[in-house]
Amino acid sequence: MSDDTPTVAPLPRRNADGTTTVTTLDAGDVRLVCPSWCVFQHGYRHPPAKAEITHRSEPEWALADTPEHGPTSLVEVALVQWPFSDRPQVCLSVETDDGHLEVGPTGAHRIAAALRKQADHIDTMVDQLISLRAEVTGR
Ligand SMILES: [Zn+2]
Repeated sequence: MSDDTPTVAPLPRRNADGTTTVTTLDAGDVRLVCPSWCVFQHGYRHPPAKAEITHRSEPEWALADTPEHGPTSLVEVALVQWPFSDRPQVCLSVETDDGHLEVGPTGAHRIAAALRKQADHIDTMVDQLISLRAEVTGR
């Protein structure tokens, strides 16, 4: 096998009882019960460590449709959980400039508050934009 051949983990197995079996690096076959919100198929490029097994919900984006650029997505959010890690609680994953941040309820409320504040700021800047464009066209 050449060195540039990607390692592909064994595909997860769907079991008759609705569980999924994932082959891990450190714990062999691990049988999962996915929460109802998990849409992740648990296919991994490389066999994961047991603690890296991740449940994920369908990602949701804020969508904006501007005349200049058409539909675009902003701020992806999703539920995530690493059920076999040292922090097994469900978190909210929020896309940021620093990558995806996983936060609990307090952090999620603070992010929502920051986004509402930013929305108000955008509305304020729209008023400024309208005034500035009126000055240019009024000359
Ligand atoms: Zn899952």
